[in-house]
Amino acid sequence: MKPAPKNLPNKKSPFHYLFIVALVLAGLTFFQGGTLDKVLGEKKFESIAISELLTKYRANKFESIEIINGQKIQAKDKEGKLYQAIKEEGATVKDLGLNDPSIKTEVEVKDNSSQDFWRSLLIGIAPFLLLIMLLVFLSRKAGNMGDSGPFGFGKSKAKTYNKEKHATKFADIAGAEEAKEDTMELVDFLKNPKKYQKAGAKIPKGILMVGAPGTGKTMMARAIAGEADVPFFSVSGSEFVEMFVGVGASRVRDLFKTAKRNAPAIIFIDEIDAIGKQRGGGSGGGHDEREQTLNQILTEMDGFESESAVIVIAATNRPDVLDKALLRPGRFDRRVQIDLPDMEARTKILKVHVKNKKLAKDVDLKAIASKTVGFSGADLENILNEAAIASVKARRKTISQENLDDAVEKVSIGAARKSRRITDKERAIIAHHEVGHALSGHFTKNCEPVHKISIVSRGGALGVTWFLPEEDTYLNSEAKMKDEMVSLHGGRIAERLMFGQTTTGASNDLERITAIARSMVMTYGMGDAQKIGPVVFNKRNRGFAGIDFESGKEFSEETARIIDIEVQKLVLEAEDRCVDILTTHRPLLKQISADLLTKENISKEEFLAYFE
Ligand code: ADP
Ligand code: ZN
Repeated sequence: MKPAPKNLPNKKSPFHYLFIVALVLAGLTFFQGGTLDKVLGEKKFESIAISELLTKYRANKFESIEIINGQKIQAKDKEGKLYQAIKEEGATVKDLGLNDPSIKTEVEVKDNSSQDFWRSLLIGIAPFLLLIMLLVFLSRKAGNMGDSGPFGFGKSKAKTYNKEKHATKFADIAGAEEAKEDTMELVDFLKNPKKYQKAGAKIPKGILMVGAPGTGKTMMARAIAGEADVPFFSVSGSEFVEMFVGVGASRVRDLFKTAKRNAPAIIFIDEIDAIGKQRGGGSGGGHDEREQTLNQILTEMDGFESESAVIVIAATNRPDVLDKALLRPGRFDRRVQIDLPDMEARTKILKVHVKNKKLAKDVDLKAIASKTVGFSGADLENILNEAAIASVKARRKTISQENLDDAVEKVSIGAARKSRRITDKERAIIAHHEVGHALSGHFTKNCEPVHKISIVSRGGALGVTWFLPEEDTYLNSEAKMKDEMVSLHGGRIAERLMFGQTTTGASNDLERITAIARSMVMTYGMGDAQKIGPVVFNKRNRGFAGIDFESGKEFSEETARIIDIEVQKLVLEAEDRCVDILTTHRPLLKQISADLLTKENISKEEFLAYFE
């Protein structure tokens, strides 16, 4: 997707070379310090007693004698054989009688002791030298001397994009019209910073781009850079959290320095919530890596002179967990919201991404868009890619509607697993379970229409009943939530009606029912008006590391009991309605389940045909 990043130059410091020199030195001293002697020298000498050596001398057997360091006597006889003896210290040539003028042996006294001194000094010192080097090396790595560290530890991993390369333009982004409008003026800022400076207008420093994953936040930031034709430096919040304390801060410093050098420019910080979570939320310590990095970002942004046209864009899908300090004026004080695409935008996104793909003539992208409520731009791109792969596997030249439909299912629930071995009895239970969901949903007023029923197992699910809204909805009504609970009960009730018992397959349904009932009572004030009223009981708090937790109960034990009773009432009410529906339509339940067992999948049209 992204153009190849151009890495920042990574120059080696003089320190780097010093390190290598030290290693070579240590190696040399090791060899000098004896090993060579042992290998090449001493083996050739035959050790003999000093008295024997002197006897041989007197017998005129030797050609030459060397006295080394006043200790060793080495002798070579006339056949070239070598001998060695150790003399007592202090004994002179004269003492030993080696100065006999009648014997023509050459006697030489050698003193290597000063050489030895240096050698042993080196051997002694080298390890310390190495140790000191290592210490300096480590302290540099940990300290904030990012630039000069031997391996560039403090370098920001920011990716830069060549001007020619970042071809992303607003035209590549489908939909997201409001976000485009909001950011249009940034492009102008970056293009003509002087114009705004002359007018005394402040250039915005920080933009917070808010939106679900895959909605195109990165793409939008790159498009701003593309439109303004300025360099784009991107880094991810999660990258900052590294092994060594202080590295994050030095990376930030480096990143901002590079961007300022290249101003006007854009710095993009993805996943800012990874470092910018609220501080002091019950976590101990405080001076952690995350906080230092965050502080450095704030310091850098505060230090911007008004003429440096660098705009920092930070992306997150959790603006609510961000530290308030980030959102103060002069920092990330502007917000651009990017929503999940609606039906129209989804169609447009699909159209953008089919440009380089060959579609069969009958493909209806609108139909795909209508099936993909809640999908992000990235999901849609993924669907087209999966469909393309499937068409290649089937050795077809074009992507068919079927490829696309399969891809939608694959992306939303995971790939079909036909190989999973399920017994016939289990299949029958699963079929009735799913048809139970579909029927009980169908006979309520407010459930979404059934889109598909399937007993082909995918991902973790053994079967699915797929309800799909006909249009995007943003509000849930009380009646609808109640009806949803009815259809969620359908699976379990159908099992009980037809097989006399329920299975573990319904546990997820029950969890969802309970969650709906609890939120109705505790969050949305939909409980019994007389007993509990429209009071919110589960205010969410943010705590350690930005993790949500339900705060300590802010209500009495008595209220807690009433809540439990109310929740239970809602769940049981829904169950009763479900039992009614499925008992009344038992013949239909049987028939559709039997058909599902043979067909494996039942489409919306096939399902609706049962009620004509
Ligand atoms: P985010 O940063 O919000 O997680 P990205 O910018 O990485 O999302 O989007 C991932 C991919 O999804 C993009 O590279 C692009 O191909 C596709 N995409 C997302 N939204 C759109 C859109 N509105 N129009 C076209 N493509 C989109
Ligand atoms: Zn179920």
